[in-house]
Amino acid sequence: MGRLDGKVIVLSAAAQGIGKASAIAFAKEGAQVTATDINGEKLKELDGIPGIKTKVVDVTKKDQVEALAKDFDYVDVLFNVAGFVHHGTILECEESDWDFTMNVNVRSMYLMIKAFLPKVILSGKVCPLLIAYPLIACPGVVKRCVYSTSKAAIIGLTKSVAADFLEQGIRCNCICPGTVDTPSLRERIQDRPDPEQAFKDFMARQKTGRMCTAEEVAHLCVYLASDESAYVTGTEAIIDGGWRL
Ligand code: NAD
Repeated sequence: MGRLDGKVIVLSAAAQGIGKASAIAFAKEGAQVTATDINGEKLKELDGIPGIKTKVVDVTKKDQVEALAKDFDYVDVLFNVAGFVHHGTILECEESDWDFTMNVNVRSMYLMIKAFLPKVILSGKVCPLLIAYPLIACPGVVKRCVYSTSKAAIIGLTKSVAADFLEQGIRCNCICPGTVDTPSLRERIQDRPDPEQAFKDFMARQKTGRMCTAEEVAHLCVYLASDESAYVTGTEAIIDGGWRL
């Protein structure tokens, strides 16, 4: 028997990293997973895994999000994973960078939750999930101005949805990972003028001496998506290897 038997789960950004690992972990625990991403080619890597259906969706496009929601009579869990990391201080963040980041990281969650919340309410045993970044938990991070701002907004969104829909049995939590070894993290390191130094800088802040894996984050996501966490709502679930300490 799986920990998520029969649960209908929809998630974004499932083609790689935390989203992909979570889609696989959810399906392994018996959920019926709809894994979406803007990248259709990479999403194909999930094809054929029992319990997973894939669909190309750009979560910044209202018509695509609404069309996706129309496919479901109800859902148990919505997991918003899509996010973009802009590198820079406020002085290095152009208005276009600000708008792009806030659109992908925050507005997409507004669109997804608004479209899916009525479907979650219909399931009767409900638990939408969000994902954020450990802005509150960890010390200030350099050159992450708009990224940190956007992730702090998600914490506000999480608590607001949790408070507004608590009486309807809806739970809303966000996951705050530290540094997770994912393809985009590796790309960001390679894009820096001195990738070797950039890697060393990332490692220097890992108090455990290693980065988190996407699979470790997925374990936490399974817990939050399951009924085991029935009393957990409005929280930032931190998984940062003690970075904030
Ligand atoms: P990633 O960056 O490796 O992959 C992101 C996925 O999002 C890609 O498959 C991409 O195609 C998809 N995507 C991008 N824009 C999209 C859009 N508009 N619509 C649909 N899909 C879109 O993933 P990751 O590193 O696992 O990060 C996942 C989430 O976790 C992000 O929100 C990120 O900010 C957050 N996070 C990551 C880390 C880390 O260290 N990797 C740490 C804390 C939080």
